[in-house]
Amino acid sequence: MSPDILFALAVTLIPVAAMSGWYYRGHARGKSQSSRERLQGQLARNYLDGLRFLLDDKPDRAIETFLRTLEVDEDTIETHFALANLFRRRGEVSRAIRIHQNLISRAGLSTEQRITAVRELAIDYYRAGLLDRAEVLFRELLDTGPRHNEDLKYLLDIYRQERDWDKAVEIAGLLQQARVSGMEREHAHLLCEQAAEGGVDGALHDARDLLEQALIIDHRCVRARLMLAGLERNAGQYRRAIRHLEQVVTQDRAFVPEILEPLVACYQALGRTDELHAYLAELARMRTGTSTVLKLAELEADAGQVDGAIRLLLTELRDRPSLQGLDRLVSYLLLQGTNDDAALSQVREFTHRLVATGTTYRCQQCGFEAHSLHWQCPGCKAWSTVKPVDDKTGD
Ligand SMILES: [Zn+2]
Repeated sequence: MSPDILFALAVTLIPVAAMSGWYYRGHARGKSQSSRERLQGQLARNYLDGLRFLLDDKPDRAIETFLRTLEVDEDTIETHFALANLFRRRGEVSRAIRIHQNLISRAGLSTEQRITAVRELAIDYYRAGLLDRAEVLFRELLDTGPRHNEDLKYLLDIYRQERDWDKAVEIAGLLQQARVSGMEREHAHLLCEQAAEGGVDGALHDARDLLEQALIIDHRCVRARLMLAGLERNAGQYRRAIRHLEQVVTQDRAFVPEILEPLVACYQALGRTDELHAYLAELARMRTGTSTVLKLAELEADAGQVDGAIRLLLTELRDRPSLQGLDRLVSYLLLQGTNDDAALSQVREFTHRLVATGTTYRCQQCGFEAHSLHWQCPGCKAWSTVKPVDDKTGD
């Protein structure tokens, strides 16, 4: 046992010894002289035994003695809680569990003390990774007493870890009712998780309901819009899909790169490339980022209008120089055929390498970088903070 916990235990036990004396005086009053002496002697022996176990580095036997010696009542219960918390802070959760279990098993606790003991034991289980047991106790607290936001937060975390989205949504709803700030964003994401799970079963209308509910709770939830667009697109409802995709621009412009590919697919499915061009041109005028101009140039080039694509890129590069833009420009110049192909090829190789090694997504809260989109940041666990990095040098 480390010196600090030894010290802390000793400090905890000294008042225990003092209280044992008090206990003796309070409870042995009226008893015969000999029984009083017997009790006092027993307490003193137990205390000394406890100390000896501590010094011999046998904390479990010390706790055993301590629990036997110290009656749980109004005056000693705080000492029990203090000792258990001490163990828990030290990461010795199983010892905290034993003390809290011992408290709960005792008769004579007030309702408030019992609730506190159950809550502390629930936290012990949570810390020990015994999530099932923690859940049962937090649920019990929820069902029996007034709701505590802290209990709800533990439950929410348990359900999140177990990926039990139905129950997580239920708890998030209760936290939102309690006006806990910042819950809207999380609540909406949990509904998206629920919808994503239901989507596997093909329950389209259920998923749609959940996602629309997510948007009512948090109208800025880009994920719900993108998922709704995906549902509609799969169902062949391209107009509806386009409406959802175009809403993303008003929600958060940083996500424009995410809508371009599905947007092109939907307009092409409708055979309305004219509308697509007009819309992308409008997006480009709104300065929503280099990716929009790149997509426009790509469409031009695909239609055989390489000159047009080059003109678009030249304008964009003069305005906002970027590696991606440069990379694309060189590709189109090569496609068109120039006088100095070798030099251009070299430039292109160089720029292409730079583009390929760049990050595509970054968390705006912790800076976590990724090559694919995470709705919950793997780094800091925040929701919706990982966003597309539109360009390596531009924007
Ligand atoms: Zn992060």
